[in-house]
Amino acid sequence: MTDKVVVITGGSRGIGRATALAAAARGFRVVVGYASNQAAANEVVSLIERKNGKAIAVKCDVGSEADILALFKAADEFGTLGALVNNAGIVGPSARVEDMSAERIQRMMAVNVTGSILCAREAVKRMSTRKGGEGGVIVNLSSVAAKLGSPNTYVDYAASKGAVDSFTVGLGHEVAGEGIRVAAIRPGLIDTEIHASGGEPDRAHRLAHMVPMQRVGTAEEIANAIVWLISDEASYVTSAILDVSGGR
Ligand code: NAP
Repeated sequence: MTDKVVVITGGSRGIGRATALAAAARGFRVVVGYASNQAAANEVVSLIERKNGKAIAVKCDVGSEADILALFKAADEFGTLGALVNNAGIVGPSARVEDMSAERIQRMMAVNVTGSILCAREAVKRMSTRKGGEGGVIVNLSSVAAKLGSPNTYVDYAASKGAVDSFTVGLGHEVAGEGIRVAAIRPGLIDTEIHASGGEPDRAHRLAHMVPMQRVGTAEEIANAIVWLISDEASYVTSAILDVSGGR
């Protein structure tokens, strides 16, 4: 058990929500980041508080550096930062690269890549023993798309997750001597609303037959891996990328 703070970007729904609940159950004080769905974020906070946990909801579009600075300021006022889960991520509607606008690609990279790196920057400043911090853990949400490339669907998204993988390995090495571990999870097909935001709510179930385990995964199955990574049980794990994908 810990009473440290975990910042979860996109903690209002899907994998982030499940992670917020699981981290709170392990004693973390949870900062639930959200982009626009305040009601969903408040519900996560209520669920945690009902079980005597501690949580706050903070609006933060990770495509905005100002929002990220405000998120970490709120976290500072809430306690000592022990973990960051870079979970916020977006997909676009299925398209071939030749039909993608510059705006779409730039937004994808701003949220999935730059946002994650800027949040990690703020976390490292606070956690690094080199800067007087107590150490900590950063978990990045990648995707098996980083390996598959997602042709005819969202190559831009897959490329953004490839960048997350490289960032995980590099940052992990950079801060390994400063008490900070960095790891990534590559989820496979997980039953959340992200598929609806890409224009196809049933996408995960439609493709389930292509998963070696023949089923989609749940947000809780990803959250279980994340809370293990941010726990001391994973004390020798860094610069590592873990597929949680039913074999996909
Ligand atoms: P989701 O159900 O669509 O939930 C997205 C969450 O991120 C929501 O809390 C949303 O906040 C927040 N969010 C969206 N845009 C944001 C922004 N610009 N800034 C800050 N927060 C933002 O997504 P999910 O399926 O749980 O996915 C979570 C992560 O796992 C993503 O990085 C995704 O790429 C990755 N992943 C998912 C799957 C899958 O099959 N589901 C597979 C591989 C990887 P609001 O509630 O305010 O909108």
